[in-house]
Parts: sequence; structure tokens; C-alpha cells
Amino acid sequence: MPTGHPERPERIAAITQMLAQDFAHETTKIAPEATDNQLALVHDDEYLQKLFAASPREGLLGIDGDTYLSPKTLEIAKRGAGAACAAVDDVMMNAGESAFVAMRPPGHHAEPDKAMGFCFFSNAAIAARHAQHQYGIDKVAVLDFDVHHGNGTQACFWHRSDCLYASTHEMPLFPGSGHTDEVGKGSIFNQPLHSGMDGDDVIAAWKPLLASLEKAGPELIIISAGFDAHQDDPLASINMTSSDYYELTAMIISLADKTANGRVVSLLEGGYDLDALSSSLKHHLLALSGKPEDV
Ligand SMILES: [Zn+2]
Repeated sequence: MPTGHPERPERIAAITQMLAQDFAHETTKIAPEATDNQLALVHDDEYLQKLFAASPREGLLGIDGDTYLSPKTLEIAKRGAGAACAAVDDVMMNAGESAFVAMRPPGHHAEPDKAMGFCFFSNAAIAARHAQHQYGIDKVAVLDFDVHHGNGTQACFWHRSDCLYASTHEMPLFPGSGHTDEVGKGSIFNQPLHSGMDGDDVIAAWKPLLASLEKAGPELIIISAGFDAHQDDPLASINMTSSDYYELTAMIISLADKTANGRVVSLLEGGYDLDALSSSLKHHLLALSGKPEDV
């Protein structure tokens, strides 16, 4: 990425260090590349062809002011989408397991025919459609607590009633979508947050969203886990603490236990302050793995 870009390799290095320290006993796997068929579950053929044709042999190619291709970007992005599908495979085939994917670039801004906001493949939407396609899952829900609205996931689900999307996000903020009246086929639930809100406000905003999802009864829960609503994040102005992510994750797991047989797949989206990212993720993973917060 260009110098000073917030979506930088050091994010994964910070996460890897935390995982080695605090989650050394969990099973880890290398991400496989998504197949063309998996990418085509949500992306248009023409978009995929143009994107792969644009991949530079050297240097950086700017798709827009935020989103850059290096020679390796698409291979890495394919591994993100492939890992999201592999994580679905794991939780579908192993009862009682949950999975987290530490990926970059993120995915929730990528629309069926458009790369934007650091994102190329709509990983959460691909994972949801993979679960339906491969395992005959009827309803899947993507829960997105990244501070930005997941316009890409929403666009992938806009015409579907069997793919649910719920999001809290600061507004006004990039990308500008996510008003409460954006509902698609009635399976999209948006709750904007205002600058300066804290963790209690975010958790209160999730309660009605979770109630709506519980009524709909998703059989698999996918989390778009962005940690840029943290108070130390440089890209937004919501004031969550690392500990708030434990409570929020526990609420999501409670929904998964009720409707989805406990099946949860969590995918990394944003989070741009390295200390806040690794500490928030630690709390998220403690809740996801059923451990007490004060370990
Ligand atoms: Zn974000």
C-alpha cells in the first residue's frame, strides 16, 4: 500500500503476535484461494475479468483514492474469500466449533460489480452464499459491527430474502449508505450511530437488530468483525473499548445458540490502530471461544 495507508501489513503482524501469545492452543490453518465459482457466487463475470486483467506486474495501481492493487493483491484477496468459505466448511462439518479469519484486504465494501474502500471481494457475502450452495442452508445472516456501513454486503443481498444483513455504523461517514429505510427485500437491517457514541450506545443499538434476526431464524451467523469503532481508531469517532467487543460478541453468540446451533464464522474487516485492533480482537476471540473475559 502507499506510505501512510491505514490498511497496512502491520495490522496482520499485530494480530499474529497477539494470537501467538493468547491463543496458541487454538487450531490454525493456512487460507486456501477461493475458486472462480466461489467468487462468482456474488460477483459479476465482467467485473472479475476486468479486475484480474488490471492486476499490475509491478508497482501499485490505484482503483480509486483508497483502493490499490499490487502484483500480489488479488492472490491474497482470493485467499481471504477462500478462507471465509473454508471457515464455513469447518463450522458446518464440526459441531460446536467457531472460526475466525484474520484477513486483509477486507471485503464488506466490495459490491457485485465494484471494488472500493480497500475491498475487492465481498468475503462475508461469498461465505453466506457458499453455505447455502454447499450445505443447503436456508437462511444466513451477516452481522457487521465495523464502524463503516457494509455497502458491498448489502448490495450482494439486496434482491435476496434468504440472506440477512444487519449493521451498525457511524453516519455520516464513508461510504454514506446504511440508512434505516434501506431494507432490500426486508432482510436488511441498518442502524446508524452518531459521532461520540460509546459502547453502551452500540450495544443498545444491537438489541433490536438481534431481536429482528432472531425472529428471522438464520441457521448460520457470519460476523463482519471490524474494530474501527474503538475509541483509539483514527478513521472514526465512536468510543467503544476493547472490553465492549466481548459483550457484543457474547450477545451475537447467544443469537447463534438460539437459531444457528451455535455456528459462527467471524471475518476481519477494519481496525486501524494496531494496539486497539489486537486488544479488541483478543476480547472478541475470548467470547467466540467461550472463555471468560478476565483470562
Ligand atoms: Zn471500517
